[in-house]
Amino acid sequence: MDKPYHVEWMCTYCGEKKLMMSNVGRPLLGNCNKKPNKGPHRWVLNRRLSR
Ligand SMILES: [Zn+2]
Repeated sequence: MDKPYHVEWMCTYCGEKKLMMSNVGRPLLGNCNKKPNKGPHRWVLNRRLSR
C-alpha cells in the first residue's frame, strides 16, 4: 500500500490551491467567486509532492 503523500488541488475557475493528503480525497467544494451564482469550486489535481 502506498504511504499517503501531499497533493495540490487547484480550482480551474479561480485558481485557488489547496494542499491535502492523498488519502483524504477532494477538498470541500466550497463557494467559487469566479463562478456564476457562486457555485462550487472545480478541483483538479495540480501536482503531487514527493513528501
Ligand atoms: Zn474556485
